[in-house]
Amino acid sequence: MKIQHADFVISNSDYKKCPKDKLPEYAFIGRSNVGKSSLINSIVNKRNLAKTSSTPGKTQLINHYIINNSFYIVDLPGIGYAKTSKKIREKFKKMVENYLIKRLSLECLFMLIDCRHSPQTIDQKFMQWLAENQIPFVIVFTKADKLNENQLKKNISSYKQEMLKEWIELPKIFVTSSKNKRDIEEIKKFIQKIQKSPSE
Ligand code: GDP
Repeated sequence: MKIQHADFVISNSDYKKCPKDKLPEYAFIGRSNVGKSSLINSIVNKRNLAKTSSTPGKTQLINHYIINNSFYIVDLPGIGYAKTSKKIREKFKKMVENYLIKRLSLECLFMLIDCRHSPQTIDQKFMQWLAENQIPFVIVFTKADKLNENQLKKNISSYKQEMLKEWIELPKIFVTSSKNKRDIEEIKKFIQKIQKSPSE
């Protein structure tokens, strides 16, 4: 898929204020610093579409970007990851959960995990919640270039083993790097495939 246009549309804190044109959308979530902005920028091949985590405010909103006038990429704030008070964390959690449950045009959620990390309870609980609520999602390991091929294989395999203690079947997995562009084309192909076969 060739990305011809990628533009910022709107940021907001309420799924009801998201664009109303019903184009399919693909959302990205992960704890801060996981490499979410870099991944989105790599996918759309634009240096600065998604802002990096240092931009105040943006990381706590639902950010819509329109791609080729045919679908949205949505940059979501991380659930429960913000270093703020419990009350504010709860507010973000509700905002994101509402979006994920009620946004009918959401085709797939990309759950980003740093490939160097072992399974964290908060991520595991969130993925359980996604499954319970039938929200389609895939796992995207990020920063694959930070490990050598052996370490990478070992980490991902032990991550899968850990997950298989709870899961019967694992979601689709991408192993990416925004630095050397590993699996970026695969993510684009995956989106293109969904675009061509919209859900009933
Ligand atoms: P966000 O907070 O999840 O949006 O993360 P960013 O995209 O801002 O990335 C956080 C830091 O990780 C930045 O210093 C990036 O340069 C770095 N980073 C992001 N992706 C990669 C990657 O694939 N490889 C490497 N080596 N560094 C990365």
